[in-house]
Amino acid sequence: MNMYEVQDSTHEAIDKAFDLQKDAVEQRRLTFGLAERISALQKLRQAIISNEDAIAGAIEQDFGKPKAEVVLTEILPVLEEIKDASRNLRSWMKPKWVAPTLVYIGTSARVRPEPRGVCLIIAPWNYPLLLALGPLISCLAAGNSAILKPSEMTPATSALMKDILSKSFPPDLVSVFEGGVKTSQALLDKPFDHIFFTGSPKVGKIVMEAASKNLATVTLELGGKSPTIVGPNANIEDAAKWIAFGKFSNAGQTCVAPDHVFVHQTTRDQFVHALRERIINAYGKGANSKHLARIVNEQHSARLVGMIQDATSKGATLTLDGEFNDGKLGPTLIEAVTPEMAIDQEEIFGPVLPIMTFNELDEVIARINARPKPLSLYIFERNQERVEQIIAATSSGNVGVNLTTVQFSHTGIPFGGVNDSGIGSAHGYHGFRAFSHERSILKNRYSFLPWVFPPYTDRVRWMLDKALRLLG
Ligand code: NAD
Repeated sequence: MNMYEVQDSTHEAIDKAFDLQKDAVEQRRLTFGLAERISALQKLRQAIISNEDAIAGAIEQDFGKPKAEVVLTEILPVLEEIKDASRNLRSWMKPKWVAPTLVYIGTSARVRPEPRGVCLIIAPWNYPLLLALGPLISCLAAGNSAILKPSEMTPATSALMKDILSKSFPPDLVSVFEGGVKTSQALLDKPFDHIFFTGSPKVGKIVMEAASKNLATVTLELGGKSPTIVGPNANIEDAAKWIAFGKFSNAGQTCVAPDHVFVHQTTRDQFVHALRERIINAYGKGANSKHLARIVNEQHSARLVGMIQDATSKGATLTLDGEFNDGKLGPTLIEAVTPEMAIDQEEIFGPVLPIMTFNELDEVIARINARPKPLSLYIFERNQERVEQIIAATSSGNVGVNLTTVQFSHTGIPFGGVNDSGIGSAHGYHGFRAFSHERSILKNRYSFLPWVFPPYTDRVRWMLDKALRLLG
């Protein structure tokens, strides 16, 4: 199966599903409470558990991802997200009472999280289950309905999700539309209440522009080049272990994968040696490991092979050759990378790791700050002062210290980018907030404010003067 076999959904089908969901919004406000939302999440949980083998089979068919990796990086985080939402939803849904300030004495204020309404979720291909169902969990927890568009590049997983979701939920709550750009664009024409998009910064801009036509709110989970610093006082063995895991799981096709490494000059040899050992231990040499996913399609394979050729033709050296073979590219380490090479300019999104050296931290900080703000920044360093210095001097969506990639699935912290790498946050309570409108409600009981309404008599002016003195 390949991407070209996916049929685009028709406008008629999209219109029908959208209208169905829109019509159900008002009634759902009154009937889709805590118990119903938890029951929907548990239904999803049950469906995932009973389809575990089918899910692993579909992802394996789409891009050869090993089953253990599917369980570790897709199924477990989805189940964790359901568990966290089910356990905490009661407290997330509770209105938050706010104490009055001086001027508002005599009133009561609260913030009530409410469903946004009908939401569109557009997912990428690289974690086809996690990045479609993760947002869906937050969407349902917040009381919304959802139209989900999975990626056309993982057709087996998309078809399976459509099947699972249509058996678990009525179409006025969850509908799935398969297809590519045409389907995406037809969906983007509809006046959704919220759009949650995960994908490239380029398409993120298209989504934001479409959302602006209907003033829909957006969450954009985008990508970019996530730098990794291996400091002079890093634990090199640990750094190698985490960097190899973060970069070569999913064959490097991970939004939060370390894109490139800056290693301190004094530890370069030790680091490269440790990383090579680690890679050979985990995947063997070359591209034939059964522990390594495939590059998703020919277009991406050609892009990665072309990137390596471009770099080596301009003077870069292969410290470890991944030997592309039959849709697979083994872990590749590349050095002597310079700014005119494509590999230094574009998000790599594959198992190719440039390693660069530095002497002074300021050089690295300046290089990071000269680029669009990354999704993730990784720091391997035991000196905590140095770690905090790097964090304070840079900006990124999130930071991993002495680890890589797993900050993504921690349901207690917001996950998201900043500017070029994204807008808004996902996961746990932050995902619930992304799909909620925080409606403020201010009730008058014995407010003093009418005392200063017009006409502005001397008494009113005297009171305003007193208030100014009190607040000023
Ligand atoms: P993509 O932007 O090409 O596609 C994402 C989705 O958008 C797909 O469903 C696709 O059908 C749709 N799409 C593509 N072109 C479109 C267009 N012109 N108009 C409307 N919709 C369109 O991204 P991808 O290749 O699937 O995924 C890789 C990118 O996603 C990388 O940049 C990666 O860093 C990023 N990503 C980010 C996160 C995150 O959580 N921040 C997670 C995974 C991937």
